[in-house]
Amino acid sequence: MRNKRGTLLILSGPSGAGKSTVIQAVMQRRENIYFSISCTTREPRPGEQHGVNYYYISNREFEQMIQEDAFLEYAGYVDHYYGTPRKAIEEHLSAGWDVILDIEVQGADIVRSKVPEAVSCFLIPPSFQELERRLHGRESESEEVIRGRLARAKEEYRQIPEYDYLVINDVAEQAAEEICAILQAAACRVSQRQEYIEGAI
Ligand code: 5GP
Repeated sequence: MRNKRGTLLILSGPSGAGKSTVIQAVMQRRENIYFSISCTTREPRPGEQHGVNYYYISNREFEQMIQEDAFLEYAGYVDHYYGTPRKAIEEHLSAGWDVILDIEVQGADIVRSKVPEAVSCFLIPPSFQELERRLHGRESESEEVIRGRLARAKEEYRQIPEYDYLVINDVAEQAAEEICAILQAAACRVSQRQEYIEGAI
């Protein structure tokens, strides 16, 4: 019997959509699911930890990893680099684990072209006003940074038609339920269930 590969789930959404909270809720609900820890050149926010939320690295280290082809994808986002380390993803997928990527729209585009079977999901709050409110509520960023993130969010909304699913994060637990349902459906794809028909046809 062939070892089933896990599902690669791309999750995008504007900064402030609540992706981290929803991802945590998804991870609590499902087994064998790995959150891909990205590398970033931005500073940690209060409460964030190296090796948990991100690997916080210098521009030089980031460029070194680009040279070594260590990223599945990377992108610039509001003055900083963000990249998805390739190795851990491949290891988990081939062991049958699902993998969640929390990445922005340019990175999502690259992953879709490199991994056509990836499932992509865009997460938004119930309204744009709610997004503004959430970003201001964070109090860890300057008004200028918040303005940059809102401008970027507007551009990102235009990419939503490229995604397979749109999840509205009004209540995080419900959004997590929907993402679990998406992962469950992905696991039921015929391509994922070849072992049940091999030998019969
Ligand atoms: P934040 O600074 O709020 O943690 O993340 C900013 C944006 O970068 C978010 O939209 C997040 O999804 C995205 N991001 C985080 N990691 C990666 C990554 O490895 N690659 C890409 N392309 N985007 C990422």
